[in-house]
Amino acid sequence: MNNKYDAIIIGGGHNGLVNAAYLAKAGKKVLVLEKRHVLGGAAVSEEVYPGFTYSVCSYVVSLFRPHIIRELNLTKHGYDIIPMDASFQPLPDGDLGLCKWGDASLTRREIARFSKKDSEVYGEFSNVMTHMAKLAKEVIDHPAPDVASINPKELSSLLRMGKVFKNLGSELLHMNIKLLTMSSADFLDLWFESEVLKGPMAVSGIIGTFLGVRSPGTAYVLLHHYMGELDGAFRSWGFSKGGTGGVSMACANAAKSFGAEIRTNVDVAHVKIINGKATGVVLANGDEIDSKIVVSNLDPNRTYLKMIGEDNLTSDITTEIKRFKLRGSSGKVNFALSGVPNFCKKRKGLEYMKGDIAIVPNIDYVEKAYDQAKYGEFSEKPFINIVVPSLTDPTLAPPGKHVMSCFIQYAPFDIKEGPEYWPKLAEKFGDAVQNTIKEYVPDIDSLVLHRQVITPWDLQETFGLTEGNIFQGELTLEQLLFQRPISGFAKYKTPIRNLWMSGSGTHPGGGIMGSGGELSAKSILKEKVI
Ligand SMILES: Cc1cc2nc3c(=O)[nH]c(=O)nc-3n(C[C@H](O)[C@H](O)[C@H](O)COP(=O)(O)OP(=O)(O)OC[C@H]3O[C@@H](n4cnc5c(N)ncnc54)[C@H](O)[C@@H]3O)c2cc1C
Repeated sequence: MNNKYDAIIIGGGHNGLVNAAYLAKAGKKVLVLEKRHVLGGAAVSEEVYPGFTYSVCSYVVSLFRPHIIRELNLTKHGYDIIPMDASFQPLPDGDLGLCKWGDASLTRREIARFSKKDSEVYGEFSNVMTHMAKLAKEVIDHPAPDVASINPKELSSLLRMGKVFKNLGSELLHMNIKLLTMSSADFLDLWFESEVLKGPMAVSGIIGTFLGVRSPGTAYVLLHHYMGELDGAFRSWGFSKGGTGGVSMACANAAKSFGAEIRTNVDVAHVKIINGKATGVVLANGDEIDSKIVVSNLDPNRTYLKMIGEDNLTSDITTEIKRFKLRGSSGKVNFALSGVPNFCKKRKGLEYMKGDIAIVPNIDYVEKAYDQAKYGEFSEKPFINIVVPSLTDPTLAPPGKHVMSCFIQYAPFDIKEGPEYWPKLAEKFGDAVQNTIKEYVPDIDSLVLHRQVITPWDLQETFGLTEGNIFQGELTLEQLLFQRPISGFAKYKTPIRNLWMSGSGTHPGGGIMGSGGELSAKSILKEKVI
């Protein structure tokens, strides 16, 4: 049936679903096609073992844009976030560790155990970062301006961005330049002296990149992790009830309520292109479905090289897209446990464990973890970011039992034996993670009922993230704003007419934000292409 649909969205990740919801809300006839049996992409909940539901990939939420929640009425459709109040860093040898709390005075007291000076500076640092992040949000809530264009609309959008920086004032503007150019470790050195404090702060800068905390440019990503907000509370993180798939399902429910059709278990082979124009999709089983436009929620590599194909691209564009850096560096190990893994028996109660737990005792620890990755090995002592969400959301595990999610860096996609070798290494990698945790939770082995190891190879093969990059492409400065994914095509368009993009590989990048889906849908509607 010709042009049955106004838009086909390839991929039911949360951005694809947000995109579908906005287009359907505007009265368009929309179809979402998802390859897996379950929606959500990297924001997915799955009952991997009976009774135990994992946030299989992403595990905490805060970047999701509040105006999208309002405009799509997501709360009504099941969007429900449980805020986290603590961020704990255990230390070896039975030390009390360092816990940062929602209560600033408690946090100051904890930091003072390691450095009185740092405890005094910490508040000011947080204020500066929060202020810069607030302004950065002005940038992420709009399509990136095209710096090469003299079109008045582009110039005014560039001007708006310039004003954002001007409004910082001279002191913060200089700080911002440092943030854009320095390494996260160097940037933190400007403020703090305690290695214990700096360790978990610095790692925010390297999440999802193949860089170390001492690599220049990583300080910016630190800011990215200060951009969160929940219910108006700035910089807070939380758990989606029922796992991060809850966010995706809320987006899917909203899309359906506006009339969008969603199909799972549908593998799209490529976009149907006639005379340089997208006219629908061709499925892996050979079926064709026509539409006026197609929106790809896949990463730039897949969109350009598989959905479009090199035959339909100029060699310059093919070269540029092949240079877009993916090089995944992270993995995930999800545990089903028979009881609570106590990371610090010296602390009273379990409140300190109800947020995230970072295994990164100091800066050197994580830099050494990177050293191994640089030469094609996973880190034997990795940085691990742990959450035990069943402590706050009992729906995730049977009574008395728990799920523990461990985000790991570094697990380089390009392992020295070659990426296809990852399946053979998976359990060894899982052992390294479990053994590292054992240094803090000596009885961990006896608590483990099940262990799910997700390598960068799995992220590629199962979740469709090329080279296992968790953000559909590194969040490094040269791949942001008007250069994401490539210069000239940073506004959700592609070289193929009527083929648009909406995923994390577009501006403003990765994380459960919904922005790629939203900004792409609004651009499509603004251009009245359907
Ligand atoms: C291990 C991990 C941990 C993370 N942790 C966090 C976190 O805690 N907090 C946070 O904010 N962010 C986190 N992220 C990042 C965040 O989850 C992603 O940036 C975001 O979910 C990406 O959403 P998306 O819709 O842009 O793309 P995706 O989720 O990548 O969606 C793409 C969809 O397309 C589908 N697809 C692929 N090929 C085809 C095809 N041929 N036909 C049809 N469908 C296809 C895929 O199955 C997938 O559903 C994490 C990511 C990973 C992988």
